[in-house]
Amino acid sequence: MPESVALHAPKVRHPARLRASPLSARHDMALAMHVAMTRAWLIGAGPGDVELMTLKATRALAQADVVLVDDLVNPDVLQFARADAQVVYVGKRGGHPSTPQAGIVAQLLEHVRAGRSVARLKGGDPFVFGRGGEEQQALHAAGVEVEVINGITAGIAAPAAIGIPVTHRDHAQGVVFVTGHGAGSGEPDWAALVATRMTLVIYMGMRRLHDIVDALLAAGMSADTPCAAIESATRPEQRHALARLGEFADTVARAGLGSPAIVVIGGVASLALARAAARADDEAPCADGAATQ
Ligand code: SAH
Repeated sequence: MPESVALHAPKVRHPARLRASPLSARHDMALAMHVAMTRAWLIGAGPGDVELMTLKATRALAQADVVLVDDLVNPDVLQFARADAQVVYVGKRGGHPSTPQAGIVAQLLEHVRAGRSVARLKGGDPFVFGRGGEEQQALHAAGVEVEVINGITAGIAAPAAIGIPVTHRDHAQGVVFVTGHGAGSGEPDWAALVATRMTLVIYMGMRRLHDIVDALLAAGMSADTPCAAIESATRPEQRHALARLGEFADTVARAGLGSPAIVVIGGVASLALARAAARADDEAPCADGAATQ
């Protein structure tokens, strides 16, 4: 059984030396109270724009002694952390070296057991493709309670950033959030997803975009289906590409879009395509060569 730390009703066993004198008894009490106030949070930092972080997230961050940060988190959100907070970057970006998951959990536990409040800061929402569920399980297994604070997930923020609603009565009755990563967890059943006729929002899909598009076409999705890819959504460097499914992978490659990006496939993306077409018309040169506004 791992040693457990119950955050709300702590039973802290102190070393004998702390009980040796009245002074250390006071210290003992102070330590117990500090541990009672020790908290652990799993916080969603949102998609990038600092203003899209929740009030609850900023308030929790302001209390933490230690902040463990993933690399999709905009570092600007650390303005809400205490000036004296210990900030540790434990991020990983697909394929690059990172702190192994077990190491992150070990660090979380170490800080909580030492009586330090810890904020685990993740991009978007901590429970959407963020391995937040696994971290919560590991903390619970060690007897540590953790408070989960939602963030706005990239899967709705990125489409919205270019005017795409993930549902719309005229286009989709629902939305499927799916990982395009494939490796390890196995390939999503693209044919089954096509059959739902729902909006597909694909996380981590950029590296395998050609394969994903081929699978969707093979499953009978129309080559005319509107698609969008949005890179670094809600950040100043945001870029996107729009195309019909048949040309989508090539368009994205030509635009040089890469990770992190969200891919949206389905009728809802027609809202962005229509707007882009209308703008292009507005900007097209008139017969006399002057550009219209
Ligand atoms: N927990 C996160 C997702 C983590 S998985 C969330 O809820 O948003 C990492 C993937 O999220 C990236 O590969 C990319 O597909 C997507 N992503 C995260 N932030 C993004 C952003 N600002 N713009 C576009 N995609 C983003």
